[in-house]
Amino acid sequence: MKLSKKILGSLALACALVVSANAASDKVTWKLATSWGAEFPPFTNSVANMAKMVEEMSGGDFVIKVDAVNKHKSAFGIMDMVKLGQYEMGHTASYYYKGKDPVLLLFTSMPFGMNALEQYAWFYFGGGMELAQKSYEKHGMYSFPGGNTGVQMGGWFRKEIKSLDDLKGLKMRIPGFAGEIFAKLGCAVTNIAPGELFTSLERGTIDALEWVGPGMDVSMGFHKIAPYYYTGWHEPATELQFVVNRAKMDKLSPKNKAILETAMKTAAYDMLIQNYDMSATAWDKIKTEYPNIKIMTFPKPVMDAMKAANEDLVKEESAKSAEFKTVHDSQQAYMKKARAWTNIGEYAYIRDNQ
Ligand code: CA
Repeated sequence: MKLSKKILGSLALACALVVSANAASDKVTWKLATSWGAEFPPFTNSVANMAKMVEEMSGGDFVIKVDAVNKHKSAFGIMDMVKLGQYEMGHTASYYYKGKDPVLLLFTSMPFGMNALEQYAWFYFGGGMELAQKSYEKHGMYSFPGGNTGVQMGGWFRKEIKSLDDLKGLKMRIPGFAGEIFAKLGCAVTNIAPGELFTSLERGTIDALEWVGPGMDVSMGFHKIAPYYYTGWHEPATELQFVVNRAKMDKLSPKNKAILETAMKTAAYDMLIQNYDMSATAWDKIKTEYPNIKIMTFPKPVMDAMKAANEDLVKEESAKSAEFKTVHDSQQAYMKKARAWTNIGEYAYIRDNQ
């Protein structure tokens, strides 16, 4: 059968219209707010990396403009701004919002909890993502892993912590569940925006603080005031989050949605390994470039008290919220399974091959 020229022409026109309609509907410009200053690697790199991938993969049709805290002035207001649609998405830490909804802190990192590998396995294969979406749904958002710091150091102190008495009355910046633990042990706990940490320590607003690890800490200069640097226990695998307004994400084309999800996942992985590299590099120079830093581990009675306080607090929160209990139970069950393998896999390898 031969189609007439007229019919072929109409078909071509119809196809062109469909293509242009699709192209038009795929053009999206979003805004993203972060909890960080403009130059805060690797946190800021993770976001810039994600936005760049989205733009490149979409051939320039999906653009995400990033506003750092210098612009929007609200380090801890990301969830509200995203919920209200002032920003389509944000990059922040879930545990900054424990006052709004305690269950959210479980999606960052828990004291004595999983390490980064175990936790990513939980998120992607152990039911963690489903639980996170459920917890974020009531806030009108989706949540996606946004980069992991790996194990964090226990923080910077002006004086050595020799016993539990040394914690009494200590003014410390420490967010998340660990903050609750220090409060239970007699510290005056506060959370301070990342951009104000050094000034707060210098002015004596706080006596001690924890931030991340050598890669991000030593350049901040904390050691000049608080040279006792403790090994970690409280944030074994701090995951940052991309939070996305639900209605806005639901309106994305399937293609843009796939691009966004792929870019977020890749950026999260990139941040984990960049953080690892930054800490390894900083640690390599710590003895020569920062000889006054004293590497310490909390004494056993202090660690035991922290563990006991952690267990009490988990019981209290679980009694108050079935949702908290469900997520925490899921993490504990997964950790039990994964840690048995970690012990005979990664840990035995390192232990036996030093
Ligand atoms: Ca921290």
